[in-house]
Amino acid sequence: MEYISTRNSDSKVSFSQAVEHGLAPDGGLYIPSQLPNLKPHLDSWSVLSYPELCKAFFALFATDIPKTALDEIIDRSYLSFDDPAIAPIRKLEDDLLVLELFHGPTLAFKDFALQFLGNLYKYQIKVTGKNIAVLGATSGDTGAAAIHGLLGKSGVTSFILYPNGRISPLQERQMTCTEASNVFPLAIEGSFDDAQTAMKTVFEDREFADEVGLSAVNSINLARILAQCVYYLSAFFRLPEEKREDFTFVVPTGNFGNVLAGWMVQQMGVPIKGFQVATNQNDILHRLFETGVYSQEVVAPSLAPSMDIQVASNFERFLYYMVNGDSDAVCNIIKTFKSTGTFVFEDFNRDTFSSSRTSDEDIASIIENVYKKYDYVVDPHTACGFAKTTNGPAIILATAHPAKFPDTIEKSIGLEVLHPSLERFKAKPIVKYSVEPNPDAIKQFMREHLR
Ligand SMILES: *Cc1c(COP(=O)(O)O)cnc(C)c1O
Repeated sequence: MEYISTRNSDSKVSFSQAVEHGLAPDGGLYIPSQLPNLKPHLDSWSVLSYPELCKAFFALFATDIPKTALDEIIDRSYLSFDDPAIAPIRKLEDDLLVLELFHGPTLAFKDFALQFLGNLYKYQIKVTGKNIAVLGATSGDTGAAAIHGLLGKSGVTSFILYPNGRISPLQERQMTCTEASNVFPLAIEGSFDDAQTAMKTVFEDREFADEVGLSAVNSINLARILAQCVYYLSAFFRLPEEKREDFTFVVPTGNFGNVLAGWMVQQMGVPIKGFQVATNQNDILHRLFETGVYSQEVVAPSLAPSMDIQVASNFERFLYYMVNGDSDAVCNIIKTFKSTGTFVFEDFNRDTFSSSRTSDEDIASIIENVYKKYDYVVDPHTACGFAKTTNGPAIILATAHPAKFPDTIEKSIGLEVLHPSLERFKAKPIVKYSVEPNPDAIKQFMREHLR
Protein backbone atom coordinates (compact mmCIF):
# COMPACT_ATOMS: atom_id res chain seq x y z
CA MET A 1 0.00 0.00 0.00
CA GLU A 2 1.23 3.46 -0.91
CA TYR A 3 0.24 6.80 0.55
CA ILE A 4 -0.43 10.16 -1.09
CA SER A 5 -1.03 13.68 0.15
CA THR A 6 -4.48 15.29 0.00
CA ARG A 7 -2.74 18.19 -1.77
CA ASN A 8 -0.76 16.18 -4.30
CA SER A 9 -1.77 12.70 -5.42
CA ASP A 10 1.34 12.21 -7.58
CA SER A 11 4.11 11.64 -5.06
CA LYS A 12 3.80 8.43 -3.12
CA VAL A 13 5.36 7.33 0.17
CA SER A 14 5.38 4.13 2.21
CA PHE A 15 3.38 3.55 5.39
CA SER A 16 6.48 4.11 7.54
CA GLN A 17 7.28 7.37 5.78
CA ALA A 18 3.70 8.61 6.15
CA VAL A 19 3.83 7.84 9.87
CA GLU A 20 7.28 9.37 10.29
CA HIS A 21 6.41 12.64 8.50
CA GLY A 22 2.95 13.02 10.02
CA LEU A 23 2.15 15.97 7.78
CA ALA A 24 3.03 15.71 4.07
CA PRO A 25 5.78 18.15 2.91
CA ASP A 26 3.16 20.13 0.95
CA GLY A 27 1.14 20.72 4.12
CA GLY A 28 -1.48 18.13 3.13
CA LEU A 29 -2.51 15.02 5.03
CA TYR A 30 -1.58 11.49 4.03
CA ILE A 31 -4.23 9.04 2.86
CA PRO A 32 -3.98 5.57 1.31
CA SER A 33 -3.57 5.79 -2.47
CA GLN A 34 -6.61 3.56 -2.68
CA LEU A 35 -8.92 2.11 -0.06
CA PRO A 36 -8.95 -1.68 0.12
CA ASN A 37 -12.23 -3.56 -0.11
CA LEU A 38 -12.87 -5.29 3.23
CA LYS A 39 -16.02 -7.11 2.13
CA PRO A 40 -14.26 -10.40 1.31
CA HIS A 41 -12.74 -10.43 4.82
CA LEU A 42 -15.83 -9.65 6.85
CA ASP A 43 -16.92 -13.21 7.56
CA SER A 44 -13.55 -14.42 8.74
CA TRP A 45 -12.79 -11.22 10.65
CA SER A 46 -16.07 -11.18 12.56
CA VAL A 47 -14.86 -13.83 15.02
CA LEU A 48 -11.44 -12.36 15.78
CA SER A 49 -10.37 -10.90 19.13
CA TYR A 50 -9.57 -7.20 19.19
CA PRO A 51 -5.78 -7.58 18.76
CA GLU A 52 -6.21 -10.23 16.04
CA LEU A 53 -8.62 -7.99 14.16
CA CYS A 54 -6.16 -5.13 14.47
CA LYS A 55 -3.38 -7.33 13.02
CA ALA A 56 -5.54 -8.43 10.10
CA PHE A 57 -6.52 -4.84 9.35
CA PHE A 58 -3.02 -3.37 9.56
CA ALA A 59 -1.57 -6.15 7.43
CA LEU A 60 -3.38 -4.42 4.54
CA PHE A 61 -1.91 -0.99 5.32
CA ALA A 62 1.50 -1.34 6.98
CA THR A 63 2.84 -3.37 4.09
CA ASP A 64 6.43 -2.22 4.51
CA ILE A 65 6.69 -3.57 8.07
CA PRO A 66 7.44 -7.29 8.46
CA LYS A 67 4.36 -9.17 9.69
CA THR A 68 6.04 -10.52 12.83
CA ALA A 69 7.21 -7.05 13.88
CA LEU A 70 3.77 -5.58 13.20
CA ASP A 71 2.02 -8.29 15.19
CA GLU A 72 4.34 -7.72 18.12
CA ILE A 73 3.71 -3.96 18.04
CA ILE A 74 -0.03 -4.60 18.13
CA ASP A 75 0.17 -7.26 20.86
CA ARG A 76 2.00 -4.83 23.11
CA SER A 77 -0.40 -1.96 22.42
CA TYR A 78 -3.55 -3.35 24.02
CA LEU A 79 -2.04 -5.00 27.11
CA SER A 80 -2.69 -2.13 29.46
CA PHE A 81 -6.42 -1.87 28.73
CA ASP A 82 -8.52 -2.75 31.77
CA ASP A 83 -11.32 -4.58 29.95
CA PRO A 84 -10.77 -7.93 28.19
CA ALA A 85 -12.94 -6.81 25.26
CA ILE A 86 -10.67 -3.70 24.85
CA ALA A 87 -13.65 -1.78 23.40
CA PRO A 88 -16.69 -3.22 25.23
CA ILE A 89 -20.28 -2.37 24.34
CA ARG A 90 -22.79 -1.38 27.05
CA LYS A 91 -26.44 -1.87 26.34
CA LEU A 92 -28.70 0.89 27.69
CA GLU A 93 -31.68 -0.14 25.55
CA ASP A 94 -32.10 -2.61 22.71
CA ASP A 95 -31.53 0.15 20.22
CA LEU A 96 -29.25 2.35 22.30
CA LEU A 97 -25.73 1.08 22.83
CA VAL A 98 -22.55 2.69 24.11
CA LEU A 99 -19.13 1.78 22.77
CA GLU A 100 -16.79 2.34 25.72
CA LEU A 101 -13.48 3.63 24.42
CA PHE A 102 -12.05 4.67 27.77
CA HIS A 103 -10.45 1.50 29.07
CA GLY A 104 -6.91 2.44 28.08
CA PRO A 105 -4.22 3.85 30.39
CA THR A 106 -5.31 7.52 30.13
CA LEU A 107 -9.05 6.82 30.03
CA ALA A 108 -9.85 8.32 26.62
CA PHE A 109 -10.20 6.84 23.14
CA LYS A 110 -6.88 8.43 22.15
CA ASP A 111 -5.10 5.50 23.83
CA PHE A 112 -6.20 3.15 21.04
CA ALA A 113 -4.01 4.95 18.56
CA LEU A 114 -1.29 6.35 20.76
CA GLN A 115 -0.34 3.12 22.50
CA PHE A 116 0.06 1.69 19.01
CA LEU A 117 1.95 4.73 17.71
CA GLY A 118 4.32 4.64 20.70
CA ASN A 119 5.25 1.04 19.95
CA LEU A 120 5.52 1.80 16.25
CA TYR A 121 7.95 4.65 16.96
CA LYS A 122 10.00 2.37 19.19
CA TYR A 123 10.26 -0.12 16.33
CA GLN A 124 11.20 2.58 13.82
CA ILE A 125 13.93 3.95 16.11
CA LYS A 126 15.35 0.46 16.36
CA VAL A 127 15.32 0.00 12.58
CA THR A 128 16.65 3.41 11.56
CA GLY A 129 18.87 4.19 14.54
CA LYS A 130 17.50 7.76 14.43
CA ASN A 131 16.00 9.43 17.51
CA ILE A 132 12.72 11.26 17.17
CA ALA A 133 11.17 14.39 18.61
CA VAL A 134 7.43 14.25 18.93
CA LEU A 135 5.52 17.50 18.66
CA GLY A 136 1.83 17.54 19.39
CA ALA A 137 -0.96 19.95 20.22
CA THR A 138 -3.66 18.84 22.58
CA SER A 139 -7.10 19.85 23.68
CA GLY A 140 -6.50 17.63 26.70
CA ASP A 141 -6.60 13.94 25.90
CA THR A 142 -4.17 13.56 23.00
CA GLY A 143 -1.33 14.97 25.09
CA ALA A 144 -1.95 12.62 27.98
CA ALA A 145 -2.36 9.61 25.69
CA ALA A 146 0.74 10.53 23.66
CA ILE A 147 2.88 11.05 26.73
CA HIS A 148 1.80 7.70 28.15
CA GLY A 149 2.19 5.95 24.82
CA LEU A 150 5.77 7.19 24.60
CA LEU A 151 6.72 7.00 28.27
CA GLY A 152 9.91 5.06 28.87
CA LYS A 153 10.64 4.63 25.14
CA SER A 154 14.27 5.60 24.70
CA GLY A 155 15.11 7.83 21.77
CA VAL A 156 11.83 9.76 21.92
CA THR A 157 11.44 13.24 23.40
CA SER A 158 7.87 14.57 23.60
CA PHE A 159 6.79 18.20 23.32
CA ILE A 160 3.08 18.73 23.84
CA LEU A 161 1.42 22.13 23.39
CA TYR A 162 -1.80 22.79 25.26
CA PRO A 163 -3.99 25.83 25.99
CA ASN A 164 -3.19 26.93 29.55
CA GLY A 165 -6.22 26.81 31.83
CA ARG A 166 -8.48 25.34 29.17
CA ILE A 167 -8.06 21.66 29.89
CA SER A 168 -9.33 19.87 32.99
CA PRO A 169 -7.01 19.87 36.03
CA LEU A 170 -6.78 16.06 35.88
CA GLN A 171 -5.96 16.10 32.18
CA GLU A 172 -3.16 18.53 33.05
CA ARG A 173 -1.93 16.26 35.82
CA GLN A 174 -1.79 13.28 33.46
CA MET A 175 0.64 15.26 31.31
CA THR A 176 2.62 17.18 33.88
CA CYS A 177 3.01 14.72 36.75
CA THR A 178 4.80 11.89 34.94
CA GLU A 179 8.23 12.63 36.48
CA ALA A 180 9.70 11.71 33.08
CA SER A 181 12.77 13.63 31.91
CA ASN A 182 11.96 13.32 28.19
CA VAL A 183 8.49 14.88 28.38
CA PHE A 184 7.87 18.61 27.97
CA PRO A 185 4.30 19.82 28.47
CA LEU A 186 4.18 23.33 26.95
CA ALA A 187 1.39 25.58 28.19
CA ILE A 188 0.50 28.34 25.74
CA GLU A 189 -1.70 31.38 26.21
CA GLY A 190 -4.38 30.88 23.57
CA SER A 191 -6.75 28.25 22.25
CA PHE A 192 -6.18 24.73 20.95
CA ASP A 193 -6.52 26.11 17.42
CA ASP A 194 -3.64 28.53 18.09
CA ALA A 195 -1.53 25.60 19.31
CA GLN A 196 -2.47 23.43 16.34
CA THR A 197 -1.77 26.19 13.80
CA ALA A 198 1.68 26.91 15.28
CA MET A 199 2.44 23.19 15.37
CA LYS A 200 1.48 22.70 11.72
CA THR A 201 3.76 25.57 10.70
CA VAL A 202 6.65 23.92 12.53
CA PHE A 203 5.95 20.72 10.57
CA GLU A 204 6.02 22.61 7.29
CA ASP A 205 9.69 23.54 7.97
CA ARG A 206 11.19 20.37 6.48
CA GLU A 207 14.75 21.38 7.33
CA PHE A 208 13.91 21.65 11.01
CA ALA A 209 11.86 18.47 10.82
CA ASP A 210 14.86 16.54 9.51
CA GLU A 211 17.23 18.18 11.98
CA VAL A 212 15.28 16.99 15.04
CA GLY A 213 13.53 13.91 13.62
CA LEU A 214 10.12 15.51 13.99
CA SER A 215 7.07 13.27 14.31
CA ALA A 216 3.38 13.95 14.78
CA VAL A 217 1.02 12.44 17.32
CA ASN A 218 -2.03 14.47 16.37
CA SER A 219 -4.71 12.95 14.21
CA ILE A 220 -2.96 14.52 11.24
CA ASN A 221 -0.92 11.31 11.60
CA LEU A 222 -2.60 8.66 9.48
CA ALA A 223 -1.54 5.85 11.83
CA ARG A 224 -3.93 7.27 14.37
CA ILE A 225 -6.90 7.25 12.04
CA LEU A 226 -6.15 3.70 10.91
CA ALA A 227 -5.78 2.44 14.49
CA GLN A 228 -9.17 3.95 15.24
CA CYS A 229 -10.75 2.20 12.27
CA VAL A 230 -10.33 -1.05 14.17
CA TYR A 231 -12.85 -0.30 16.93
CA TYR A 232 -15.52 0.55 14.39
CA LEU A 233 -14.97 -2.84 12.82
CA SER A 234 -14.92 -4.56 16.19
CA ALA A 235 -18.14 -2.79 17.22
CA PHE A 236 -19.85 -3.55 13.93
CA PHE A 237 -19.19 -7.26 14.40
CA ARG A 238 -20.64 -7.14 17.91
CA LEU A 239 -23.90 -5.43 16.96
CA PRO A 240 -27.00 -7.65 16.96
CA GLU A 241 -26.55 -9.50 13.70
CA GLU A 242 -30.08 -9.13 12.36
CA LYS A 243 -29.92 -5.32 12.48
CA ARG A 244 -26.24 -4.52 12.21
CA GLU A 245 -26.83 -2.42 9.17
CA ASP A 246 -29.48 -0.28 10.89
CA PHE A 247 -27.18 1.23 13.50
CA THR A 248 -25.95 4.82 13.25
CA PHE A 249 -22.60 5.50 14.92
CA VAL A 250 -22.86 8.67 17.00
CA VAL A 251 -19.45 10.29 17.44
CA PRO A 252 -18.58 13.19 19.76
CA THR A 253 -16.42 15.25 17.42
CA GLY A 254 -13.78 17.97 17.49
CA ASN A 255 -11.01 17.50 14.94
CA PHE A 256 -13.08 15.09 12.80
CA GLY A 257 -10.48 12.35 13.32
CA ASN A 258 -12.58 9.82 15.17
CA VAL A 259 -15.64 9.99 12.94
CA LEU A 260 -13.47 10.04 9.80
CA ALA A 261 -12.03 6.67 10.85
CA GLY A 262 -15.55 5.23 10.94
CA TRP A 263 -16.44 6.76 7.60
CA MET A 264 -13.31 5.27 6.03
CA VAL A 265 -14.32 1.84 7.29
CA GLN A 266 -17.68 2.37 5.58
CA GLN A 267 -15.90 3.43 2.39
CA MET A 268 -13.95 0.17 2.54
CA GLY A 269 -17.18 -1.72 2.03
CA VAL A 270 -18.41 -2.30 5.60
CA PRO A 271 -22.17 -1.68 5.50
CA ILE A 272 -22.39 0.89 8.29
CA LYS A 273 -25.59 2.90 7.94
CA GLY A 274 -24.22 6.32 8.80
CA PHE A 275 -22.69 8.70 11.31
CA GLN A 276 -23.87 11.49 13.54
CA VAL A 277 -21.27 14.20 14.06
CA ALA A 278 -21.97 15.35 17.62
CA THR A 279 -20.36 18.70 18.44
CA ASN A 280 -20.45 20.86 21.55
CA GLN A 281 -21.12 24.59 21.29
CA ASN A 282 -18.07 24.88 19.03
CA ASP A 283 -20.15 23.74 16.15
CA ILE A 284 -18.26 24.48 12.92
CA LEU A 285 -18.89 20.91 11.75
CA HIS A 286 -22.57 20.92 12.71
CA ARG A 287 -23.04 24.17 10.76
CA LEU A 288 -21.18 22.66 7.82
CA PHE A 289 -23.37 19.57 7.69
CA GLU A 290 -26.51 21.66 8.12
CA THR A 291 -25.76 24.43 5.64
CA GLY A 292 -22.75 23.52 3.51
CA VAL A 293 -20.87 26.54 4.85
CA TYR A 294 -17.53 25.87 6.53
CA SER A 295 -16.97 28.98 8.56
CA GLN A 296 -14.61 29.49 11.46
CA GLU A 297 -15.70 31.22 14.64
CA VAL A 298 -13.83 32.03 17.84
CA VAL A 299 -13.47 29.05 20.15
CA ALA A 300 -15.73 29.29 23.19
CA PRO A 301 -14.40 27.13 26.06
CA SER A 302 -16.98 24.49 27.02
CA LEU A 303 -17.62 21.66 29.47
CA ALA A 304 -16.31 19.25 26.80
CA PRO A 305 -12.85 20.83 26.35
CA SER A 306 -11.39 18.12 24.09
CA MET A 307 -13.90 19.22 21.46
CA ASP A 308 -13.19 22.96 21.74
CA ILE A 309 -11.96 23.14 18.19
CA GLN A 310 -13.03 25.30 15.26
CA VAL A 311 -10.60 24.17 12.57
CA ALA A 312 -11.06 20.44 12.11
CA SER A 313 -7.80 19.18 10.59
CA ASN A 314 -9.18 15.90 9.35
CA PHE A 315 -11.94 17.52 7.41
CA GLU A 316 -9.30 17.90 4.69
CA ARG A 317 -9.19 14.12 4.29
CA PHE A 318 -12.95 13.91 3.84
CA LEU A 319 -12.75 16.85 1.46
CA TYR A 320 -10.30 14.98 -0.74
CA TYR A 321 -12.81 12.18 -1.21
CA MET A 322 -15.67 14.64 -1.64
CA VAL A 323 -13.96 16.29 -4.61
CA ASN A 324 -13.15 12.85 -6.05
CA GLY A 325 -9.42 13.04 -5.43
CA ASP A 326 -8.89 16.38 -7.16
CA SER A 327 -5.97 17.63 -5.06
CA ASP A 328 -5.92 21.01 -6.80
CA ALA A 329 -9.50 21.55 -5.68
CA VAL A 330 -8.48 20.62 -2.13
CA CYS A 331 -5.65 23.19 -2.26
CA ASN A 332 -7.98 25.92 -3.48
CA ILE A 333 -10.64 25.24 -0.86
CA ILE A 334 -8.08 25.15 1.97
CA LYS A 335 -6.45 28.32 0.67
CA THR A 336 -9.75 30.20 0.55
CA PHE A 337 -10.68 28.95 4.01
CA LYS A 338 -7.29 29.94 5.43
CA SER A 339 -7.39 33.45 4.04
CA THR A 340 -11.08 34.27 4.62
CA GLY A 341 -12.12 31.91 7.42
CA THR A 342 -15.04 30.66 5.29
CA PHE A 343 -15.75 28.32 2.43
CA VAL A 344 -19.19 27.95 0.88
CA PHE A 345 -19.83 24.59 -0.77
CA GLU A 346 -22.30 24.57 -3.66
CA ASP A 347 -24.42 21.43 -3.42
CA PHE A 348 -22.73 20.11 -0.30
CA ASN A 349 -22.92 16.34 -0.27
CA ARG A 350 -23.30 15.19 3.32
CA ASP A 351 -23.10 11.57 2.35
CA THR A 352 -24.34 9.45 5.30
CA PHE A 353 -23.60 12.11 7.92
CA SER A 354 -26.04 13.86 10.18
CA SER A 355 -25.00 16.28 12.91
CA SER A 356 -25.93 17.81 16.25
CA ARG A 357 -24.81 20.57 18.59
CA THR A 358 -24.96 20.44 22.37
CA SER A 359 -24.69 23.49 24.62
CA ASP A 360 -23.08 23.40 28.07
CA GLU A 361 -26.52 23.53 29.69
CA ASP A 362 -27.63 20.52 27.71
CA ILE A 363 -24.44 18.63 28.56
CA ALA A 364 -25.19 18.98 32.26
CA SER A 365 -28.82 17.93 31.90
CA ILE A 366 -27.94 14.99 29.67
CA ILE A 367 -25.45 13.70 32.26
CA GLU A 368 -28.23 13.95 34.85
CA ASN A 369 -30.92 12.34 32.70
CA VAL A 370 -28.74 9.48 31.52
CA TYR A 371 -27.72 8.77 35.10
CA LYS A 372 -31.33 8.79 36.32
CA LYS A 373 -32.65 6.72 33.47
CA TYR A 374 -29.90 4.13 33.08
CA ASP A 375 -27.81 4.41 36.25
CA TYR A 376 -24.89 5.13 33.95
CA VAL A 377 -22.45 8.04 34.19
CA VAL A 378 -21.25 9.63 30.97
CA ASP A 379 -18.47 12.17 30.62
CA PRO A 380 -19.25 15.62 29.14
CA HIS A 381 -17.98 14.66 25.66
CA THR A 382 -19.97 11.45 25.52
CA ALA A 383 -23.00 13.44 26.72
CA CYS A 384 -22.98 15.31 23.39
CA GLY A 385 -23.61 11.96 21.71
CA PHE A 386 -26.92 11.67 23.52
CA ALA A 387 -28.29 14.63 21.57
CA LYS A 388 -29.72 12.13 19.15
CA THR A 389 -30.95 13.43 15.86
CA THR A 390 -31.18 10.23 13.89
CA ASN A 391 -34.05 7.78 14.11
CA GLY A 392 -33.44 4.11 14.57
CA PRO A 393 -30.81 2.17 16.46
CA ALA A 394 -27.71 4.06 17.57
CA ILE A 395 -24.37 3.24 19.08
CA ILE A 396 -22.79 6.17 20.87
CA LEU A 397 -19.03 6.33 21.21
CA ALA A 398 -18.04 7.02 24.83
CA THR A 399 -14.83 8.92 24.25
CA ALA A 400 -13.61 9.45 27.83
CA HIS A 401 -14.14 8.12 31.34
CA PRO A 402 -16.26 10.46 33.51
CA ALA A 403 -13.59 10.48 36.25
CA LYS A 404 -11.49 12.77 34.04
CA PHE A 405 -14.08 15.54 34.48
CA PRO A 406 -15.08 15.29 38.15
CA ASP A 407 -16.26 18.90 38.53
CA THR A 408 -18.86 18.67 35.78
CA ILE A 409 -20.04 15.26 36.97
CA GLU A 410 -20.32 16.45 40.55
CA LYS A 411 -22.30 19.54 39.52
CA SER A 412 -24.64 17.49 37.34
CA ILE A 413 -25.41 14.53 39.59
CA GLY A 414 -23.74 15.30 42.93
CA LEU A 415 -21.52 12.27 42.63
CA GLU A 416 -17.77 12.00 43.05
CA VAL A 417 -16.44 9.67 40.34
CA LEU A 418 -12.90 8.44 40.96
CA HIS A 419 -10.53 6.26 39.02
CA PRO A 420 -7.35 4.78 40.53
CA SER A 421 -5.22 5.63 37.51
CA LEU A 422 -5.97 9.32 38.12
CA GLU A 423 -5.63 9.25 41.89
CA ARG A 424 -1.95 8.37 41.69
CA PHE A 425 -1.13 11.71 40.01
CA LYS A 426 -2.72 13.89 42.64
CA ALA A 427 0.23 13.91 45.06
CA LYS A 428 2.90 14.50 42.43
CA PRO A 429 4.46 17.85 41.51
CA ILE A 430 3.31 19.56 38.30
CA VAL A 431 6.15 20.20 35.82
CA LYS A 432 5.20 22.41 32.87
CA TYR A 433 6.81 25.04 30.68
CA SER A 434 5.42 28.13 29.08
CA VAL A 435 6.10 29.03 25.47
CA GLU A 436 4.71 31.54 22.98
CA PRO A 437 2.35 29.92 20.46
CA ASN A 438 4.54 30.85 17.51
CA PRO A 439 6.62 28.48 15.41
CA ASP A 440 9.99 30.12 16.09
CA ALA A 441 9.58 30.09 19.84
CA ILE A 442 8.55 26.43 19.71
CA LYS A 443 11.51 25.46 17.52
CA GLN A 444 13.90 27.31 19.82
CA PHE A 445 12.50 25.57 22.89
CA MET A 446 12.81 22.19 21.19
CA ARG A 447 16.41 22.80 20.12
CA GLU A 448 17.39 23.88 23.64
CA HIS A 449 15.80 20.87 25.29
CA LEU A 450 16.80 18.19 22.85
CA ARG A 451 20.45 18.38 23.88
C1 LIG B 1 -10.20 14.09 21.22
C2 LIG B 1 -11.54 13.90 21.86
C3 LIG B 1 -12.72 14.09 21.14
C4 LIG B 1 -12.72 14.60 19.71
O1 LIG B 1 -12.19 13.66 18.81
P1 LIG B 1 -11.78 14.12 17.33
O2 LIG B 1 -11.07 12.96 16.76
O3 LIG B 1 -10.90 15.32 17.51
O4 LIG B 1 -13.04 14.45 16.63
C5 LIG B 1 -13.92 13.82 21.77
N1 LIG B 1 -13.95 13.39 23.06
C6 LIG B 1 -12.84 13.21 23.78
C7 LIG B 1 -12.95 12.76 25.19
C8 LIG B 1 -11.58 13.45 23.20
O5 LIG B 1 -10.48 13.27 23.93
